[in-house]
Amino acid sequence: MLVPVRSGKSFRVVSPPESALVLRDVAEELERVLQRFGEITNCGPSNRITILFKPGIFGHHRVGRAVDIYEVGNVRLDVWKHRWDQAVRRGLEAANAKGRSAILKAERRRNFGWLLYKTLQCFGRWSQPCGYPIQLFGPWTRTEGPWMGISDFLLQAHRDHIHVAK
Ligand SMILES: [Zn+2]
Repeated sequence: MLVPVRSGKSFRVVSPPESALVLRDVAEELERVLQRFGEITNCGPSNRITILFKPGIFGHHRVGRAVDIYEVGNVRLDVWKHRWDQAVRRGLEAANAKGRSAILKAERRRNFGWLLYKTLQCFGRWSQPCGYPIQLFGPWTRTEGPWMGISDFLLQAHRDHIHVAK
């Protein structure tokens, strides 16, 4: 019943198939959004962007409805987040608002970790169990949403990967 998330024309899954085994509708949604992400980052058949999953254990993972993404473009998510935080800091040190927005604009284009998170947020249809937040958690959840009220505990638990469930 469970199937792996397969590579597409613009992205390549570099982890073993068993790292992201999900139900078919979940795989199809992920493949659709990851294809979109690859296009956003100007990747195609000759330079597909790489995605690395690792198996999860709890909650939606048990029933094949969740995946955890740890690397994108051969760089770990916590490293992308570190680069992002550095850019934000440089922005705060900029002489004026114009300088600040130029720094952040450049970072938004080249930070594939942040871009992946935003693509999943903007183009994916993810689970929202009754009484719970939308099931998209990662290093950017507190600042970018969808659940800005994420607890310190959960934010810390997702500092090095993006969890998404359908
Ligand atoms: Zn997870």
